[in-house]
Amino acid sequence: MNTNEQQELAYAYEGPPALHAHIGQVMAYLGYSGGHEPRPLGAAVTLQAAGTQQRLDVTFYQQGQEWHTHAYILAGADLKQTSKELLLHWYDRCFGQGQRNPWGTLMGVRPTKLVHHLRDQGLSAPAIEETLVRHYHVTPAIAQELLAMTALQRPFIERPRREAALYIGIPYCPSHCLYCSFPSRLCQTETAAGLLAFAAAVEEDIRDIDSLCRQYGLRVTSAYIGGGTPTCLPKDALARILQAVAVSFPDLSEWTVEAGRPDTADVATLALLREYGVDRISVNPQTMQQRLLDLLGRRHSVADVYTMYENCRRLGFSVVNMDFIAGLPGQTAADMQENMEIVCQLHPENVTIHTLALKKKAPLFHHPLRQAIPPAGEVAASLSRSRQLLAQAGYIPYYMYRQKYMAASFANIGYALPQTESQYNIQMMEERQTILAAGPGSTTKFLASDGHSLEKVYMPKDPDTYRQLLAQRMAQRRRICAMIYGGDDT
Ligand code: SF4
Repeated sequence: MNTNEQQELAYAYEGPPALHAHIGQVMAYLGYSGGHEPRPLGAAVTLQAAGTQQRLDVTFYQQGQEWHTHAYILAGADLKQTSKELLLHWYDRCFGQGQRNPWGTLMGVRPTKLVHHLRDQGLSAPAIEETLVRHYHVTPAIAQELLAMTALQRPFIERPRREAALYIGIPYCPSHCLYCSFPSRLCQTETAAGLLAFAAAVEEDIRDIDSLCRQYGLRVTSAYIGGGTPTCLPKDALARILQAVAVSFPDLSEWTVEAGRPDTADVATLALLREYGVDRISVNPQTMQQRLLDLLGRRHSVADVYTMYENCRRLGFSVVNMDFIAGLPGQTAADMQENMEIVCQLHPENVTIHTLALKKKAPLFHHPLRQAIPPAGEVAASLSRSRQLLAQAGYIPYYMYRQKYMAASFANIGYALPQTESQYNIQMMEERQTILAAGPGSTTKFLASDGHSLEKVYMPKDPDTYRQLLAQRMAQRRRICAMIYGGDDT
């Protein structure tokens, strides 16, 4: 069984829900995926009580054949460790010790968080590497990469407790891209008055955060306006939100706006961002071949990307980020190579490489073009080549995250030229700082005094529901803020 075949197979699990995530990690290490995507079943795992013991069953399926076995786990044994060892042992007996997931059993969305915890405990770099390799079955190369990335991140996450970041979510887009599952509304289906009323609600939300900061002595040092596509808002609505941020938080050390779609960011919009003090911008081509942009419903041209990039440079944004996606339907290794050659030539300060994670809510999920998604092995080769080209051009990987439905060995990685890292991206990913969030679908995360646990406040995703429930959610946010940072809640 080769790796590609493994990545196409699913596993099924029946047993205590509390152990599902653990079994999922072990199965992912063996190359089986969970999630909603219909894939052929490669393995079925059952865990059930048998008197005082637990009975673990597994059936592996391959090419019309089945291999089944089971064992009893004694009461008092470490259920997680024993079930993991049994599944690995049975897999080896069935298939031999083939090529496994280089991430081992480290299958969470934020693999660097574990490494930071180990660093907090005072473990040396060699001790952490050994833990990752021996205990989590991570390859030495990935362990070293995690160590290097977390070393770079340490100064960003070791910050005073009352420093915070601001996130603002704008769930509007100019059209739905085929691969995207984000629940955005289309700007052009709204009235100008409706969008202005939406902006007024976000402004109220931002001002409420400002008053919390004043009351509890919180200092917002970075802001990020994302979405969706914030720049698709009419200029008066966008200006209202920008002004609220600029007035409430005049001492930001970085302020980013995601202007993902080049068809939404003309010179006047970019100039508006600069006027209020935005200094970082994301220009997201995703890929630089017109045939693919057209297939994906991006509704902009390759030329639009160049024009927007030049405009950003002319207007003096200090950091430009460009997002690309590997594994888009119809995309070839040559396309990704071309993307990287273009980006290395333009030389933006930041580059983010995502891997397509097909989600049930994305139009692509039910679209015939999903058949054109390139095989995992081809995507892996493209990612590795991209990494090589970016490294030669001076980019360093500085943050990463993985996604639930992502093929087992992939990660999304943010690269930066030295000294241009986004502190917001690091803090948001590592969850070591309070993130105050406004706008539909945003989540405020208060970092508790233990430095690890989070208290969250969710804003409704739908803009109308958001406006209806805003007062209630702001009250909830005030209560939790009072609980975390003390003071009285009046
Ligand atoms: S990829 Fe960006 S622009 Fe396209 S639908 Fe998703 S959020 Fe909107």
